[in-house]
Amino acid sequence: MEKLIIVANWKCNPTTLLKAKLLFNSIKRGVRSFKKIEIVICPPFVYLMAGDKRQATRIKFGGQDCFWEEEGAFTGEISPLQLKNLGCRYVIIGHSERRKYFSETNKEIGQKIKAALLAKLKPILCIGETRQERRKGKVERVLRDQLKKDLTDLSAHQLKNLIIAYEPIWAIGKGRACSFEDAKWARYLIKKSLKKKISILYGGSVNSKNAKNFIKEAGFQGLLVGGASLKPKEFIKIVKIVAES
Ligand code: PEP
Repeated sequence: MEKLIIVANWKCNPTTLLKAKLLFNSIKRGVRSFKKIEIVICPPFVYLMAGDKRQATRIKFGGQDCFWEEEGAFTGEISPLQLKNLGCRYVIIGHSERRKYFSETNKEIGQKIKAALLAKLKPILCIGETRQERRKGKVERVLRDQLKKDLTDLSAHQLKNLIIAYEPIWAIGKGRACSFEDAKWARYLIKKSLKKKISILYGGSVNSKNAKNFIKEAGFQGLLVGGASLKPKEFIKIVKIVAES
């Protein structure tokens, strides 16, 4: 059986390297014994430089985004090869905040997915509907459309290395997660649309109270955790609860 995955998305936090090291060290100490769980930390790019990610540690690293070219005159961008070279194994692609604040299109996201796979990174593709789309009963259409556009021209072999994160946009950072029933339904729709055995994570206001049921009741293969991943005690509790469930 594949390991359950818990991904910490630190977003644009914390503000100093010292705070990042303290946060990392607390998490590292706290999750040491939970060997059944693949723990992935996605810090801001600048903190990926601190420490050697290839040393034997239970924690894996990922980027929060990447560019679609390997190198070149692309000011401000980070390539998948550069992430790989720093010891990353994963990269989040198409997070709703990138789609919203940086106007990322499905076409660009598709290019990033391909580039990440070529660099032998595991892309974590984020998809999900807005509250308005949900109200209008468009969840299935939105998810199907995002999957189709973000994953064009990928071989069955490439798809094996992909992870999908179902992140209903209205549940991100709101302290109010999706219901387990609705999340389970979305998971089913994603599975049906992909017709492949791919790990599907849930993200959106995950905490130590709801984490277990997204795995046990809704059947997800892991979680993508934003806000709670910045609170070491809460994050460690989430990992513990999932590991022991
Ligand atoms: C996220 O940003 O991917 C996320 C899930 O955030 P939060 O857990 O804070 O809702």
